[in-house]
Amino acid sequence: MQKILIVEDEHDIAELIAFNLRRAGYEVIMAHDGIEGTVMAMRERPALIVLDLMLPGRDGYGVYRELRRDARTASTPVIMLTARAQTEDRIQGLETGADDYLTKPFSPKELMLRIRAILKRGDAPPGASEFTHGPFRFDKNALKFYVGTDSVDLTPTEFKLLLYLCERAGRPQERNHLLRTIWGYSDEAHSRTLDTHMKRLRQKLGAHHGSWIETVRGVGYRVATQAP
Ligand code: CA
Repeated sequence: MQKILIVEDEHDIAELIAFNLRRAGYEVIMAHDGIEGTVMAMRERPALIVLDLMLPGRDGYGVYRELRRDARTASTPVIMLTARAQTEDRIQGLETGADDYLTKPFSPKELMLRIRAILKRGDAPPGASEFTHGPFRFDKNALKFYVGTDSVDLTPTEFKLLLYLCERAGRPQERNHLLRTIWGYSDEAHSRTLDTHMKRLRQKLGAHHGSWIETVRGVGYRVATQAP
């Protein structure tokens, strides 16, 4: 049974999420402030964390930064919860590296879909644990990524996204298709999510290799088949 940590100070929201997660077969642990959430994440090593931004003690960004700095939680997927009024928070949340965000009020069903989509990413088919394209090497079991011999830290979503594009190199992937496949979104309202992730991926690949990812105007993105 996969364990999910909810960090949320509003008890009724936390309980609603917990109820739905348990019904879907997940084990649930809860923390009600930022400090407790950080400690619990490192101790319990959950498969995924649902992290509210507005928290007493230490806010969601603070928690997130602590988690990424610690080897035990550095690659744990995080879904951030933001208030509707804080549109900028969403963008900032994604730029700090969260795998996804949901704006309150959200439907529990939507949250469940997102959680399932993210947790599914870790499943690598046996016997195909490595994939290489140009200078890029993906270790699908360990979720490790290398450019040449250098290890580059990617979040689980960045890893999935880049791998998906590399496995289909040369073929443009439509925005809607990527949003649906990587995040489980059913509409284009989350376009910004995709662009923010792409921007971050290019930055991580650096000046030398970022240009492997090509923007196809009016369509989406494509990874080059050979060195650009
Ligand atoms: Ca809150």
